[in-house]
Amino acid sequence: AEVILEAQDLKKYFPVTKGLLVSKVTGWIKAVDGISFQIRAGETLGVVGESGCGKSTTAKMLLMLEEPTEGIIRFQGRDVHNATHAERREYRSSVQAVFQDPWSSLNPRMRVRDVIAEPMIINLNMSRRDVQDRVAKLLNDVGLSSYHANLYPHEFSGGQRQRLAIARALSVEPKLIVLDEPVSALDVSIRAQIMNLLKDLQHEYQVSYMLIAHDLATVRYMCDWVAVMYLGQIVEFAPKTQLFNNASHPYTKALMSAALPSHPDIQKEEMILTGEVPSPLNPPEGCRFHPRCPVVMERCSHEVPQLREMSPGHAVYCHLY
Ligand code: SF4
Ligand code: MG
Repeated sequence: AEVILEAQDLKKYFPVTKGLLVSKVTGWIKAVDGISFQIRAGETLGVVGESGCGKSTTAKMLLMLEEPTEGIIRFQGRDVHNATHAERREYRSSVQAVFQDPWSSLNPRMRVRDVIAEPMIINLNMSRRDVQDRVAKLLNDVGLSSYHANLYPHEFSGGQRQRLAIARALSVEPKLIVLDEPVSALDVSIRAQIMNLLKDLQHEYQVSYMLIAHDLATVRYMCDWVAVMYLGQIVEFAPKTQLFNNASHPYTKALMSAALPSHPDIQKEEMILTGEVPSPLNPPEGCRFHPRCPVVMERCSHEVPQLREMSPGHAVYCHLY
């Protein structure tokens, strides 16, 4: 499929300041430090890693909630930060989000039909009648009914609220939806329903997803491509089957050992993660994973590993290869 979004050497640094009245920048938290990836039409890119690895900051940059410190985001070939006002507006409507906590995007004082209609009214020039019709169709598409249209979000269960957030995101027919841990706050029994719904809707609406997850099981079920992040960088990027059959970076292997204890389809070597994730303020020299890497070598502590292509589309940053 064609590439719809491309991130090139994206960085987000947050200043660390000292002093209350006259604050002085004493350092930088390198939340995202030079990542590149592509998202293809109608496909899902999974971004996985421990908390603090920069997944959510990456999502916020794509959603224009954070301005990149450096780097380029190209959407359908156009640099979104050097775009005209109208193009940025169009981009904002083309890229929607569903967050872990649906409350964050749902106004509790609005009825469900208005919650869903709001993005259409803001972004699209539609008649009241068309908006009404589309709200009805969206409710139906996400497994709710017109009965729900007059309720308020607090009258919904967690799973229903997530359905509502999905309907709202889809209402403007976006090209891409950023899904930031969309099922992790839900009961285990509901998760599969929501994941299946997202898959069905992807097919029907021909939308791409960037799915942020901290576990590999969700990624394995949902994604076509996977980016594994560690301390602000991508350490491995691959088509899903490649990643699960031929995980190459020691960090990816460690995540698999931890998350998928005994799956017969998955080839894995035992890699056990020890230690804590170091601070993104002054990250380790060389390979950032070296203080925790079970197979660390001498050069790893001072040489930054460069991209190595294991097979077409499968990139790894590690001195083993
Ligand atoms: Fe481990 Fe070295 Fe590879 Fe980093 S570069 S993951 S420290 S082997
Ligand atoms: Mg997060």
